Amino acid sequence: MRAAAGGPHEAGGSHISGGERLVPPSEVEFRVQELVRRALLHEKGEPDFLCVTVERVPQEAVRSLSALPISKRDVRDLEEGRSVAVEILAEAGISREAALRAVAWLAQGPAPDGGAMRGAIVMDADTGERLESDPARGVRVSRIDWHPDELPAWQDEVRHLGIANERVAEALALATKVVQTPGTVAELCWSDDPGYVTGYVASKRHGYVRIPFLKERGSPLGGRVFFVRGISTVEEYETALQTPVLLRREEKKRHDV
Ligand code: AMP
Repeated sequence: MRAAAGGPHEAGGSHISGGERLVPPSEVEFRVQELVRRALLHEKGEPDFLCVTVERVPQEAVRSLSALPISKRDVRDLEEGRSVAVEILAEAGISREAALRAVAWLAQGPAPDGGAMRGAIVMDADTGERLESDPARGVRVSRIDWHPDELPAWQDEVRHLGIANERVAEALALATKVVQTPGTVAELCWSDDPGYVTGYVASKRHGYVRIPFLKERGSPLGGRVFFVRGISTVEEYETALQTPVLLRREEKKRHDV
């Protein structure tokens, strides 16, 4: 699902909301309804363009991945949050220059109109150069969801941490897939949702690290940056981000929040 205001994305409309699910045929109708409701009730305003695409994915094409371990870094405010993000990215092997550029793009609004993109920035982990061919769209991760039997069990496990919600479940699934995709070194994300200021950094080395303040409350700006090294083309990289994946719970439990 993708929704925009001021016309379709491809005609310059600004991005309002997006989402993807990977579900059995019996759930399609209900899940489509859920996504449409998400678009219509989004805090950023009412869309005037809404596109839902439904496609069959053969079961044998679906891979299973186990969720990244989750942790949290306590920070007092946005400045500290951003500097902790840069520090973790540097530890993950991203150049400081690239990490700082990524933070600056998300803070200023990474799309050419100064708003949010529909997808993610693809950034060279060494130079900080943006590699995506369409800077309004970026690259999109799709065909990703939780294994239906695993989500309720994961929610029970993390309920005491206050993160047993759809937003964290979706973000963890996406980050797990991104981090496991060849060429990715790390990911930085904060939401474009004005009411949600928590973001994360994800990498193989650190897992999924939540940072409680990465943006100002009320700001409609946010986005994702996928830091890459050694990819042959962005198109091939995006194809890999779109192979079907269902998420399982982390194998060894370490919810060190
Ligand atoms: P959200 O966490 O849903 O508020 O999304 C924050 C930002 O992440 C959006 O503005 C997009 O730029 C980006 N984004 C959201 N969904 C995806 C996706 N499936 N693939 C790539 N980027 C995404």
